[in-house]
Amino acid sequence: MNLKKLFFASALLFAACGTIQAQEVIAHRGFWTISGSAQNSLAALVKADSIHCYGSEFDVWLTTDNQLVVNHDATFKGVTMQDATAKVCTAVQLDNGEQLPTLQQYLDKAKSLKTRLILELKAHKTPEQETRAVEGIVKMIRNMGLESRTEYITFSKHATKEFIRLAPKGTPVYYLTGDLTPKELKAWGCAGPDYHFSVFQKHPEWIKECHELGMKVNAWTVNKAKDMEWLISQGVDFATTNEPVALKAILKKK
Ligand code: MG
Repeated sequence: MNLKKLFFASALLFAACGTIQAQEVIAHRGFWTISGSAQNSLAALVKADSIHCYGSEFDVWLTTDNQLVVNHDATFKGVTMQDATAKVCTAVQLDNGEQLPTLQQYLDKAKSLKTRLILELKAHKTPEQETRAVEGIVKMIRNMGLESRTEYITFSKHATKEFIRLAPKGTPVYYLTGDLTPKELKAWGCAGPDYHFSVFQKHPEWIKECHELGMKVNAWTVNKAKDMEWLISQGVDFATTNEPVALKAILKKK
């Protein structure tokens, strides 16, 4: 084999290896299971980035004055996010002493980091609220120049459709609830399922089916080593975890 042929053979082998799905770690609500951090805090985003997570997940609500704030619980420390103004929401103190952030503050912090933004829009009381939220989110992400680093996830079927309709074509949108088959997700235009890992334990064949349909597979929230090992063995693309350091250590051993 001459040098030219060897080069092409190596390139082909490299390309073949490149098609094997990478397994990536997404920090669930950021990396908050260490001191100084808290779920959905700016510190949790920075810490997820500092350990080189593929992505950092966080949750977004629309307030009564049509502002976007970052928090997981519908009601947190006595404040119901979708029934309060942004001023009231952001007056809440997180467990690490930070104020509850607006989405704008979160993205300002993200701008200087590298981790991908796995933005979950929480299911709201009405489809109108969700549409307003999706419009606001997509616009803010565009204005911040973060379109290529952002993926959207949601439990809401309406919000899933709205992200697919309003985000730039090709933006990954994953659906979380677990009640749509791979074929249905494909027909909707989703990037794939982001389901609780127990759904894949019931339907392990869905992982291969998604890959055959050109979709990716994420599973949440995987915190125990045995569940991490199982999902890795099944070839999921991403796992969302409260324990990103432990998952990274398991992946490194593979
Ligand atoms: Mg979430």
